[in-house]
Amino acid sequence: MSRVQQVTVLGATGSIGLSTLDVIARHPERYQAFALSGFTRLVELQALCVKHRPRYAVVADAAAGEALQAALQQVGLPTRVLVGEGGLCEVAAHPEVDAVMAAIVGAAGLKPTLAAVEAGKKVLLANKEALVMSGDLFIQAVRRSGAVLLPIDSEHNAIFQCLPGDYARGLGAVGVRRILLTASGGPFRETPLAELEQVSPEQACAHPNWSMGRKISVDSASMMNKGLELIEACWLFDARPSQVEVVIHPQSVIHSLVDYVDGSVLAQLGNPDMRTPIAHALAWPQRIDSGVAPLDLFAVARLDFQRPDEQRFPCLRLARQAAEAGGSAPALLNAANEVAVAAFLERRIRFPEIARIIDEVLNLAPVAAVENLDAVLVADARARVLAGEWLSRHGL
Ligand code: NAD
Ligand code: MG
Repeated sequence: MSRVQQVTVLGATGSIGLSTLDVIARHPERYQAFALSGFTRLVELQALCVKHRPRYAVVADAAAGEALQAALQQVGLPTRVLVGEGGLCEVAAHPEVDAVMAAIVGAAGLKPTLAAVEAGKKVLLANKEALVMSGDLFIQAVRRSGAVLLPIDSEHNAIFQCLPGDYARGLGAVGVRRILLTASGGPFRETPLAELEQVSPEQACAHPNWSMGRKISVDSASMMNKGLELIEACWLFDARPSQVEVVIHPQSVIHSLVDYVDGSVLAQLGNPDMRTPIAHALAWPQRIDSGVAPLDLFAVARLDFQRPDEQRFPCLRLARQAAEAGGSAPALLNAANEVAVAAFLERRIRFPEIARIIDEVLNLAPVAAVENLDAVLVADARARVLAGEWLSRHGL
């Protein structure tokens, strides 16, 4: 590699952002943090700026921006603080940036991620919601700009590693029969169904294998995460929903598999630590140390597999339904889920009501064609209104 790669980390204060900075710090001769963004944890963002000395930091609003700028100046850092969505888009598309880690959670990451794509960057995609919402528009933008899109989601990164380099010719053309998308089943895989009415946000966020942000932890508990990942896989690998089978694999050691027509099934294995897919994508097509311990198969000892139960996990069924409906359905699904998960985390609704809210929104909102970003934003806003109406009707 000829020079140090400049990396923008959107969502630097989150779980993926911190893991990304951990990998970057292991390879100062290869990578430099160019810009870091944070939304709430400003003290942590300040500490990250001191450690990584980025050219830019981005925060939510002017008040936070002034406070951070003053604090950074006081410690003699030249980092410039930008604010809001405009600031995020600026550091995502900046001409000096080589790679952008898209690790903002939810719909808030859509425009900055698209800005990186449109600027033709190497885009490391953790923010699955952005791709779920905008699907075809996102992939068209990748093709138009020549951006290099690399999946960070561990399953999609695994699938990417198990596919041949020319998979863009089509799954059929490269001999793929189906994609096997693994899922841990989350903390409620075996909880008696009646008890799900009473589970708390803390229980939902206590994932057995992965340490993650709160929203994706709840999504993992409801298996909406796997539903979003099903849609993500369809867009990334040009697959039909019927070509993606979800397999519960409680140990989270196999991160996904590709089943070929000759009967070969290729899998990618590793410890459940996001620094592996992050290091893979940062260095691709090379390999670098990620800091992840080698996999000890003797300690793992066994690998189990189960079929998912859609009665237990209705979100999975709803996501498949949205994937098959196409158009604005995934954007509606995603927005309804974001509202419902936030309400669950605020203890305003019970866990099973997440799926009930999404179901109602999908039933009430008409599915429209998505020809431009406005259509995506209209669907997103409509679903948020409908989900809000569900909450008010229930006195919340
Ligand atoms: P997190 O909650 O730990 O971090 C989210 C980041 O987004 C934080 O830096 C936060 O400041 C920022 N953010 C939140 N709301 C924002 C807003 N409105 N505007 C701007 N910035 C905002 O989440 P995470 O677990 O790191 O997940 C990030 C993304 O990566 C999600 O889309 C998630 O689905 C995906 N992902 C995460 C994991 C994981 O292991 N954590 C695995 C696969 C995919
Ligand atoms: Mg995943």
